[in-house]
Order: sequence, then C-alpha cells, then structure tokens
Amino acid sequence: MPNTYAPPARLALSHLAPGAFQSEIRAMSLECDRIGGINLAQGICDTPVPALVQEAAIQAIHGGHNIYTRLDGITRLRNAIAAKQSRDYALDYDPESEILVSSGATGGLHAAAMALLNPGDEVLVFEPFYGYHVSTLSAQRLAPVLVPLAGQDCALDTAALEAAVTPRTRALLLNTPANPCGKVFNRAELEEISNLVLKHDLFLITDEIYEYFVYDGQQHISPATLPGMKERTIVLSGFSKTYSVTGWRLGYVAADARWMGAISYFHDLTYVCAPSAFQHGAAAGLEQLPPSFYTELSADHQDKRARLLSALRDAGLEPSVPAGAYYILAGAANLPGKTAAEKARRLLSATGVAAVAGSAFFRPGLGENLLRFCFAKKDRDLDEACARLRKL
Ligand code: PLP
Repeated sequence: MPNTYAPPARLALSHLAPGAFQSEIRAMSLECDRIGGINLAQGICDTPVPALVQEAAIQAIHGGHNIYTRLDGITRLRNAIAAKQSRDYALDYDPESEILVSSGATGGLHAAAMALLNPGDEVLVFEPFYGYHVSTLSAQRLAPVLVPLAGQDCALDTAALEAAVTPRTRALLLNTPANPCGKVFNRAELEEISNLVLKHDLFLITDEIYEYFVYDGQQHISPATLPGMKERTIVLSGFSKTYSVTGWRLGYVAADARWMGAISYFHDLTYVCAPSAFQHGAAAGLEQLPPSFYTELSADHQDKRARLLSALRDAGLEPSVPAGAYYILAGAANLPGKTAAEKARRLLSATGVAAVAGSAFFRPGLGENLLRFCFAKKDRDLDEACARLRKL
C-alpha cells in the first residue's frame, strides 16, 4: 500500500482561522470613531455606573484586592449572586459549588461549552442571533444550528424547532430578553422549549444578560424556573449591562454542581479569575442597590426606546418595537445600497449615526434590509442621534 498520508502544513493558520473575521459591529464602531459620529452600533451602554459600585471597586484597589481571587470568584460576590437568584427567581444555588464569577457572560459561555460539549455536537440557536453565540460555538468546533423565529414579531415556531433536532443535538442556547430583536420569551413559549429540551434530553444554556431590561410591564422569566429545568440549565448573566460596566468583564454562571466543577476548570484555564477589584464593586451593587434601581433602569430605557422609535419612524425606517433588551431592528429598504452593510455605511456618512447591518444577525443572504440601533446611550447623545436621523 502506498503511503497517502499528507502531513498538514506546519507554518499555517488553523482550519478555523480563515473563517474568522472582524465582527460587523466592531467594524462599524471603528468607522464611526474615524468620522467622529454617534455610535448606536455597539451595545456599549455609556450610561453612568452606579456611584457605590464605582466606589467599592476603587476602595478594593486601595485595599489591596489586586491579586488572583479564588478561581470561581470571591465568596462575597458568589453569596450575593446566589441571594439575587433566590430573591428574583426563587432559584436556590449553593454559592460554594454552583456559582462561578466569570469574565463576562462571554467567558461563561466559552467555559460552559468547553465543559459540556464535544466537537461536532449540534447546538440549537434562534435566528436572528447574537453573533458571539454562533462564533463562540463555531470556534470550539461545535455546530450551531439556526432555528428562525417567524415574522416581524419573532414568533416561536415550535415545528421548526422540533425539525431542527437531530441525534447530534446536545443543547439549546436561548437568549431572553434577546439581542437583536428584543423578544422576551413568555411562559407558554418557554414551556414549549422546555418540553422539547426534556424530551430530547438536552442542556439549556440561557443568556439572561438583559434580564432587567423589559418594557411595558412585561416580566423576564428565568427558564430554569420551569419544572424539571434547573438541573439541566446553565444560566449566564452578568453586570456589563445592568451596571454599565461592559469593560470590567464581569459576569456569572449559575448551574448544578454536577456541571460547575468542569465549567470552572475551563474558565480558570482561559481567564484564571474574573477581575479582582471589580468583583468587589459588583458585590456592593448587588448588596446595596435598592429594588428601585432596577425598576428605574427599565423605566429609563423604556423612555429612551420611545425617543429612538419616534425618530426612526420620522426617518421612514420602520422600526419593530422591542419588548426587552436595548436594541431596535429597523427596516432599511428605503436606504440606498445593495446590502445592509452598504446601507449602514451610507447612513453613517449621511447622518453621522452608526447602526449595525442586520445581516450580522442572520445566515448569509438574510437581514439585508434591516439595521440595528442601540438606545442605551446618554440622553444628550441619543437626542443628537435622533435629531440627525430626522434630517434623513
Ligand atoms: N450576551 C448578549 C446577548 C449580548 O448582547 C452581550 C453584549 O452585547 C453579551 C452577552 C456580552 O456580555 P458580557 O459583557 O457579560 O460578556
């Protein structure tokens, strides 16, 4: 037999790397900075950080909390997260073995996928999706399987979901409230999802980073609260959005102790621990901010949503009204340009307002007539962006 083995090229990129490219969201942010525009593209919420959260982090630095923490986070913060899960959702987690303070929800997802899934495993993800979800799974040689939400109101299509399950499906990744479409999954929908997850014996990974951003009296339901779901649900959330600290890289994972040891191990390998001093800042926030902080947060954002919706309507950009999170998907059919990326660039040069091409949230070929706008902005900047959009 001739030896047909061809060794891989040695000085070469990995098989994954050629498919990697800068996210459209970051690209728009760079372009926006270059021309000094107003950035409604990236979800960087530049609203103020609560004073006591800032102060506690500064005090922690002065107090010498600058070294590695326990790999799953400081006890004070794990206790505070467990207390929050219990207070908000009546979900009881042992802070010693079922809470991981992670380097953002992003680091939590990476660690959870490393710990629970094998290369080639399929993970169901609703479309439109948050790009990092799909890219994080792909980067681990997992197979995201996109399940479209139906129509403008992003309705759950249970038949499509069921049809997407194969013998290789291991998990469903659910983002509620959702980026980019603002969908807040209601109880009936979550029941359908949990029935499917239980029937096929899947993990449910939930990204609840926008849990406090819900509007018009809606309620965020944490999917782990549904019967039989807690032991198989990996909850991801964090402080980036709630305390406006996206750059602190601080989030958490809550999950059954059976899974948490391995999740923490893989988080340790990549991040060692979440930033030490900032953990104290977040702990102070959870311990001391009153319930009114969270209700005001959603009321303030509901008001920002109304202002941007009105400007987008006046500009002829047909917005959908999001029930949660802090993005608006708007129709861009009337804007010049063949693709959504071209339309976003034309809008930026005409108005100085950056939005993200809708195509960033769909499989290739879809979303070309949509743009996503973020409204978690300082009032002054949002009002200026609205005034500029109205001149379109
Ligand atoms: N999950 C979703 C759905 C997001 O939209 C974002 C940020 O835009 C993140 C996670 C990032 O969270 P973190 O900063 O905690 O990594």
